[in-house]
Amino acid sequence: MRSGRVDTDVLVVGGGPAGLSTAHTVASAGYTTLVVERQQSVGERVRTSGVTALRTPAQLGCPAWLWHELGRLRFSTLDDDVILECDPRPLCVLDVRGFYRWLADRAAASGAEILTGASATEVRTSGGAVVGCSLDLGGDQIEVAARVVVDASGYRAVISKQARLHRGFSRFGVGAEYELIAPRVAQDEAVIVLSERFAPCGYAWLFPWGQSRARLGVGVHHADVRNNPRLELRRLFASAAAFRLDLTSASVRESHFGLVPAEGRPRRVAADGLVAVGDAAGHATLVVGEGIRIGIRAGEIAGEAISEALKRGRTTRDELGAYERRFHREFDRDLRVGEMINRRLSRFGDAEWNASLRLLRSLPTDLVLAILESHLPRRRMLAWFAAHPMELLRSRGLGRAALGL
Ligand SMILES: Cc1cc2nc3c(=O)[nH]c(=O)nc-3n(C[C@H](O)[C@H](O)[C@H](O)COP(=O)(O)OP(=O)(O)OC[C@H]3O[C@@H](n4cnc5c(N)ncnc54)[C@H](O)[C@@H]3O)c2cc1C
Repeated sequence: MRSGRVDTDVLVVGGGPAGLSTAHTVASAGYTTLVVERQQSVGERVRTSGVTALRTPAQLGCPAWLWHELGRLRFSTLDDDVILECDPRPLCVLDVRGFYRWLADRAAASGAEILTGASATEVRTSGGAVVGCSLDLGGDQIEVAARVVVDASGYRAVISKQARLHRGFSRFGVGAEYELIAPRVAQDEAVIVLSERFAPCGYAWLFPWGQSRARLGVGVHHADVRNNPRLELRRLFASAAAFRLDLTSASVRESHFGLVPAEGRPRRVAADGLVAVGDAAGHATLVVGEGIRIGIRAGEIAGEAISEALKRGRTTRDELGAYERRFHREFDRDLRVGEMINRRLSRFGDAEWNASLRLLRSLPTDLVLAILESHLPRRRMLAWFAAHPMELLRSRGLGRAALGL
């Protein structure tokens, strides 16, 4: 076993989208940045379905071959389907592994060092401030001294919990997914499956991403229910035809499994020498458990606040709190609305889902997309329901949730 010591301005724990975005931003500002990722390579294990707004990769300048555009959204229950044609195309499915590696290359090109196969094991503090972390590199121990540590470790929020920034999470979206080669799946249509039998207290999905590839998954909420999504997925795969999904000749190429926090963001995500971003800060919006877009944006905001604090030579909670305040201004309402809708939907059974389909059929497509992103234009929503009052009554919950009632 070897040991050593490294000094850096910023240590980022976790090479997911939030950590890599933070690293790119601080390294671009000229600060020494070390990203540690416990997997042997970035994106090695896929834990996400990779659906996001098309603007997410496009605005970053990511090459177009790393995403697959979707032109149609279908919501399906056992009884019914609603199909929404989307023009222009607002959503895409990412080549998750390729996109995460592209984010890592971008951070490295800005000057960040990316160390894989390296786990942050213990946070180091001095006088109440976080000053670094111990790393385990497959048996070798390294001490990293950092002026700022960024917890981007995902749903476990390991660093935040150790440093008592927040207590971590107890409610999660838990998902299991097959990566399929499915020659008969329509390649421009994303399907969301709503069924208490196949995805109790959650939903299921089929997301194509080009060249006959598609991700079939089931997500449920623990601890609201204890169903194992892997078993539900196996049942859905066998019964896909019940939802008009054509998986003839489909074969499983990979299995994915992951968790996303589903209980709102902690009050504090910055402390002396420490910030938390992405899932480690509860940043996913919860209508559909969407965290990639917001994690990347949180990383940009955090990276800017960290760079400003380093420039002033003070990395206290007061200085790093600029990140908290800016993130709050941009996303707090969406996160609160998303959590409220999520808790309402997780109690839906088949009768409520069928009623929701009627509402989704009559709502303008851009409002449906806004609900999915938890970004509700309240005035437009109110105006629409004022003009269609019966839809509010018939929708049995979804309409009221969308209005925040
Ligand atoms: C089944 C499922 C489907 C989803 N589908 C979508 C979707 O379609 N669209 C969407 O936008 N969001 C989706 N999400 C949510 C999205 O995946 C997350 O919100 C997003 O990945 C959060 O990014 P992150 O960088 O914060 O964390 P992560 O992507 O979880 O990255 C954290 C990284 O930290 C590493 N790490 C952890 N501990 C340590 C340690 N001690 N030392 C070093 N490294 C460590 C991990 O290996 C990991 O690579 C889904 C989530 C699940 C579970």
